[in-house]
Amino acid sequence: MQYDLIIIGMGISGISAGIYAKNSGLKILMLEKNMPGGLLNKISKINNYPGYREITGPDLSLELFNSVNELNIPYKIAEVEEIKVEKNKKIVKTTLGEFESKYVMIASGRESRKLGLPNETKLLGRGISTCALCDGALYKDKEVAVVGGGNSAIEEALYLSNIVKKIYLIHRRETFRADASLVKLLNEKKNIEIFYNSEVTSIIDEENKVKEIVINKEKTLEVSALFTYIGFEPSNSFVKDLNLLNENGYIEVDENYETKIKGIYAVGDSIKKDIYQLITAANDGVVAAIRIIRKSKKEKN
Ligand SMILES: Cc1cc2nc3c(=O)[nH]c(=O)nc-3n(C[C@H](O)[C@H](O)[C@H](O)COP(=O)(O)OP(=O)(O)OC[C@H]3O[C@@H](n4cnc5c(N)ncnc54)[C@H](O)[C@@H]3O)c2cc1C
Repeated sequence: MQYDLIIIGMGISGISAGIYAKNSGLKILMLEKNMPGGLLNKISKINNYPGYREITGPDLSLELFNSVNELNIPYKIAEVEEIKVEKNKKIVKTTLGEFESKYVMIASGRESRKLGLPNETKLLGRGISTCALCDGALYKDKEVAVVGGGNSAIEEALYLSNIVKKIYLIHRRETFRADASLVKLLNEKKNIEIFYNSEVTSIIDEENKVKEIVINKEKTLEVSALFTYIGFEPSNSFVKDLNLLNENGYIEVDENYETKIKGIYAVGDSIKKDIYQLITAANDGVVAAIRIIRKSKKEKN
């Protein structure tokens, strides 16, 4: 059977697209390699998503998954390994076999680059965060560490410095990669202590929460949280042979969210864009879905 649309990834961007596509009557299939809800499942508290004064990531994830079930949106838990492009169809190869469709939407998100420490994954959302804007308020008047030396690390450290008591900024080089204007602001801050030529070599946890970090294997710092800004890695490796990725692995799309391959769209954190938030991911999914719905209806008439 050939679907009208296959959506790869069931994070907020993919599910938002799925809701619109299903409601329009398109024959769709969603594919998810892990857990529906995507990144949401790892966020402890959200207080900037309209409609919810405050909600946990898993609760919002469950709300989205309830919509999938109530609308009977077909989905399969399978990892996409490759997309093959044929004349009038796309073949999506997965761990559960192959599926065919006219349109494909990539909503596979991205993952934060990790420090590579053993207990890091289990402490994500339990002291380790990659989003000061989202999680900073949880550590009001506490001592935290920020890792990184680029613009986002410095910007986030400056943002956090107005909330927390003290920040240890840990950077593995001798100078920052960030803009000079940001570094100037940083140097004016009284509650940021900078450790140059330093790396976090271990994280000590207690009751499954961050308690201390060790830098350069010798100095221990007691912190409530560790914010890491050492970059992100898009989860787009399954399209690497289609020549859709920029030098950083993000998918480039036009204003309709279509890639340079006709019929393949991409949305959410997997694309190159400016603001990576829940509301912008949902927006991408909805706009792309409506573009596909309109095209598909035109073709069928
Ligand atoms: C710690 C943290 C806190 C955050 N807090 C906030 C906040 O408070 N407010 C806010 O607005 N934003 C926040 N964000 C950002 C927000 O979570 C993301 O922008 C948003 O979730 C991206 O949604 P998405 O659908 O694009 O991707 P994702 O949620 O990453 O979903 C992608 C899905 O695709 C699946 N997938 C990947 N590859 C494959 C494959 N090959 N086959 C099948 N499935 C695949 C993944 O398993 C995943 O489920 C936060 C981010 C982080 C990391």
